[in-house]
Amino acid sequence: MSADAREFELIRQLFVRQIAARSDVVLGIGDDAAITRVPPDHELLTATDSLVAGTHFLDEDDPASVGHRCLAINLSDLAAMGATPLWASLAIHMPEADEDWLKTFADGFFSLADRFGVQLIGGDTVRGPLALTVTVQGIVPTGQAVRRAGASAGDLLYLTGYPGSAAFGRLHQDSELASCFFFPEPRLSIGQELRGLASAMIDISDGVDSDLGHLLHASQVGATLDIEDLPVIHAAHAKLGGESVSELVLFGGEDYELCFSVPPAREPGLIQRAESWTVPLTRLGVINDMPALQWRKGGKIFSVPDKTFEHFSDS
Ligand SMILES: [Mg+2]
Repeated sequence: MSADAREFELIRQLFVRQIAARSDVVLGIGDDAAITRVPPDHELLTATDSLVAGTHFLDEDDPASVGHRCLAINLSDLAAMGATPLWASLAIHMPEADEDWLKTFADGFFSLADRFGVQLIGGDTVRGPLALTVTVQGIVPTGQAVRRAGASAGDLLYLTGYPGSAAFGRLHQDSELASCFFFPEPRLSIGQELRGLASAMIDISDGVDSDLGHLLHASQVGATLDIEDLPVIHAAHAKLGGESVSELVLFGGEDYELCFSVPPAREPGLIQRAESWTVPLTRLGVINDMPALQWRKGGKIFSVPDKTFEHFSDS
């Protein structure tokens, strides 16, 4: 075995360690491809996302955070479809095998994977600039995945949690809110509970304005919403004042909360279900049939400034 091969064998060993093997994995890591079993009457959902050093994280970031985030951002995409995650694969690009970094990275990755019963079933290690690519797969009962398209005029718009917290935590070194950026929590159980309730759904990776805009565009509808109705991040409000906090909520990405629409008849069901959630739920307003997203401030149309937090955006 060459030095190069030995180095990458070491990486492989670090990732073939997950204890809880799923019964739906017929063949995991070690062959040319994994074999998995999808239960009858379910559809398979697949999502892929990458984190690149210098773009999505800094070289000095805690490797446990990078391990957590590269999986979390993918699980959040499954959450936004109402899916149950099952399997993941991971491609690591590294300039050279850094055992300490990889061990801590793997701890971050697997502690999240184990919590949601996700098994790593494959991957690759390549020499190159530091970057991670994760593919996750999950299932929903046939026909029940919640898409971005599906919202109608009259549906109510809702948002979980406090988007903007991650950007605030990262920018202002706020120790409590920084964990929203470094260790975001994918809203998987909420996403699954919204199957049959939400008419459309998306996760907030790039900020409420941008991602809600995607949902409305896909559904060919619009909304005129009041900035005053956005959830208030109290820590940020105390430090920055109202104006800047609204900008954080609208344009600060990396929170991975869920934004969704619910037909009015299903609102009581939503309220009832949300009582058991540990994450707050905010009603943003009502969808209309004018295909645009507008924000109102003090009752007047607010023109959206240039995106202040573009460097946090993911796409
Ligand atoms: Mg997404």
